[in-house]
Amino acid sequence: MHHFKFRDGTLYCEDVSLPDIVKEFPTPFYLYSHRTLLDHFYRIRDAFQEIDPLICFSMKANSNLSVCKTLVNAGSGLDIVSGGELYKALKIGCPPSKIVYASVGKTEEEIKSAMRSEILLFNVESVPELIMIDSVAKRLRKKAKVAVRVNPDVKADTHDYITTGTKEKKFGIDLKQAEDIFDNANKYSNVELKGLHVHIGSQITEAQAFVGATKKVLDLLDKGNIEIEWLDLGGGFGIVYNEEKATTAQEFADSIIPLLKGRSFKVILEPGRFIAGNSGMLVTKVLYVKTGTTGKKFAIVDAGMNDLIRPSLYSAYHDIKPIVARRTETEKYDVVGPICESGDYLALGREMQELIAGEYLAVFGAGAYGFSMASNYNSRPRPAELMVIGEEIKVVREAEKYRDLIRGEKIPKEI
Ligand SMILES: *Cc1c(COP(=O)(O)O)cnc(C)c1O
Repeated sequence: MHHFKFRDGTLYCEDVSLPDIVKEFPTPFYLYSHRTLLDHFYRIRDAFQEIDPLICFSMKANSNLSVCKTLVNAGSGLDIVSGGELYKALKIGCPPSKIVYASVGKTEEEIKSAMRSEILLFNVESVPELIMIDSVAKRLRKKAKVAVRVNPDVKADTHDYITTGTKEKKFGIDLKQAEDIFDNANKYSNVELKGLHVHIGSQITEAQAFVGATKKVLDLLDKGNIEIEWLDLGGGFGIVYNEEKATTAQEFADSIIPLLKGRSFKVILEPGRFIAGNSGMLVTKVLYVKTGTTGKKFAIVDAGMNDLIRPSLYSAYHDIKPIVARRTETEKYDVVGPICESGDYLALGREMQELIAGEYLAVFGAGAYGFSMASNYNSRPRPAELMVIGEEIKVVREAEKYRDLIRGEKIPKEI
């Protein structure tokens, strides 16, 4: 469910029509729906209400300050993966007691600043990292609060690049080693082992993998006689991009909650895509329609893989629709960007109404891993981010300008 809907053939974001928005703002731009962000947050919160989890929105899905602040104001915490995300999280006033920090490669500097900020938990991904955290804590005369991220060796039904919980992946610590860490907790005298963390991947549409991973973690707790305060079950709840049947928050909750009843720890969830994915779209203009030598049609648009890399990187499907529907014959199009790469496309062989130069397309499901993965490749300024809040359209990040492209560059006089 989201608030991007057609009314009489015209696309609206909440109560604002897309034709009105493109009149005012040059494309390409990202467009977020404030109401949809909140709806999705409440949906998870309500589904899991019985166990009252701490929900930490996964910032890497969308780290726009206004998006994150919308959620923080609604009670969300944040799941961060870098010092930069910590900086942004604190900037918008997220209580450190609601910040959890995962990443296989936290630097000493990043660990220091997170510890000084007194975040809730470091989700630790290796023994050497744990040793580093212990020594930083000692120097700062603090106790570091840590959860051990386990790799449960459970395969999620998703793209290989976004699978994280199988044993050949770099993430987490295997179950045996995790048990050893708890057995030898006294080795890490500046660390408080507070919890366990597990995150098996992203865009998971079946609850089964979650159930499997949760059971393995609970087994570890019981077998090892391990006491924890926090069980962080990660994120990964999938959404509908195309025709996949995505499990609803309620269905995920119904299959996971029974496993957790009667336990004394608190649960953390880290949804990213579920909250932001369908809360945003990328809006782009058709520059040219070109017929290739084989007769194939290309719709060349003003957004490319630098703006939205998911199709190129994961062969991801994004629904694309003209913002005004016209009754025409349909045609198949490759919707491609201006970037000098054959892999630069938003859709291949997509059946659509006959497209004409100058019309606008909405690329749905671009609110997560959209702008946050955008780059300046081909020296293209990154697009603006807009948010509809009630009746109003707010610029929540300006489009970059050419001068932003050279910020920080220096030309030595020897050149
Ligand atoms: C990316 C990530 C998430 C969020 O994943 P989604 O699929 O966007 O829900 C949660 N936790 C960790 C540790 C992650 O790396």
